Amino acid sequence: MALVNIHFLNLQQNYLFADIAKKVNAFKVMHPKADVISLGIGDVTQPLAPAVVEAMHKAAHEMGTIKGFRGYGPEQGYDFLREAILKNDFLPRGVHLSIDEVFINDGAKSDTGNFQELLHWDNFIGVTDPIYPVYIDSNVMIGRCGNYRDGRWTNVRYLPTTAENGFIPELPKGRPVDVIYLCYPNNPTGTVITKQELRKWVNYALKNDALILYDAAYQAYIQDPDIPHSIYEIRGARKCAVEFHSFSKTAGFTGVRCGYTIVPKDVTVSTFEGERIPLNQLWLRRQCTKFNGTSYISQRAAEAIYTPEGKQQVQTTIDYYMDNAHRMLTRLRSLGYEVYGGENAPYIWMRTSEGMGSWQFFEALLYGANVVCTPGVGFGPSGEGYVRFTAFNSHEKTEEALTRIENWTKQ
Ligand SMILES: *Cc1c(COP(=O)(O)O)cnc(C)c1O
Repeated sequence: MALVNIHFLNLQQNYLFADIAKKVNAFKVMHPKADVISLGIGDVTQPLAPAVVEAMHKAAHEMGTIKGFRGYGPEQGYDFLREAILKNDFLPRGVHLSIDEVFINDGAKSDTGNFQELLHWDNFIGVTDPIYPVYIDSNVMIGRCGNYRDGRWTNVRYLPTTAENGFIPELPKGRPVDVIYLCYPNNPTGTVITKQELRKWVNYALKNDALILYDAAYQAYIQDPDIPHSIYEIRGARKCAVEFHSFSKTAGFTGVRCGYTIVPKDVTVSTFEGERIPLNQLWLRRQCTKFNGTSYISQRAAEAIYTPEGKQQVQTTIDYYMDNAHRMLTRLRSLGYEVYGGENAPYIWMRTSEGMGSWQFFEALLYGANVVCTPGVGFGPSGEGYVRFTAFNSHEKTEEALTRIENWTKQ
């Protein structure tokens, strides 16, 4: 008899964005003429940089020749890309890593979801709340989170980040956590962490022998020079942190698929007997068994982001989105809304009006202004009473959405 992995049955039935799509579709059926603008889902809209497209063409041509054809590549990625990453993303920030600490992936969702496989099932995990749902759900699938009651998992330590604490999570009190997920700049709140605050987490991890899984998917959006782009800018982090990067939001790779994970050789976890096991070797072993590498064409495309033209073109698109974020912040604030984030991240986190629930506000905005946002509670219990707007739409649509929100607010 083939038995099911019962942990999958514990998952909340619907994926947040499927619920949203259902409600938007119901609205469209009733109002077929309405032109709905989405500031909801976190996907980019602007085309790939010309340097990236050119690199993909070139790689495709190579693959069509006897000499240039490539079959299976190294599971951990081609050296040309791993070297470009070290030279451009880390060396300028004073972070010295070696090439075999870089693992090229097909996007950060896979690795942030899969990495927990290396850890014993009864590790106690902590997450800042609200958070990217992949971290918790991937742990639920292996049975690490307990039961779901009143909107939360019984075996997860939720560390609230809300307006009340300035979106600065407090270190866990009581039972220490073994594994901590941090995401900065944060999805969904758009807020960032200072070096001083991040140092507290690294020190906590070192003191409690905990592991930090740090998601830096939005580091390219950081504007403030004092905000860290990588956790390895903090001393000691290479002993206790694994870091995930993605070219999805950096360079519009949501459809191309490429990112990377840093697993320093100094990061170890323990056996019951106290033997230290380096995660770098385990991750390599895991990847060699379960992953056959990111396509050569995607890796050449990613390499092109680091050329002088590529850098400039990618920056232009990031500036374009950040211009949207700035317009949204200014306009929503002038309407009296309480808004956060949006200065070093492409997300605006907004308190709903007059104590409305997230879903209630979502529907009111959809029906009143024909604008789609994401209900904050979909990212965790502390997201209740907030909604998320993304800066990934065009200037025109963003402006139009803001005008509609203004008219709806003032009526
Ligand atoms: C978009 C996103 C990712 C990256 O997804 P890819 O799989 O690289 O497209 C990772 N983490 C967070 C928090 C994200 O929002």
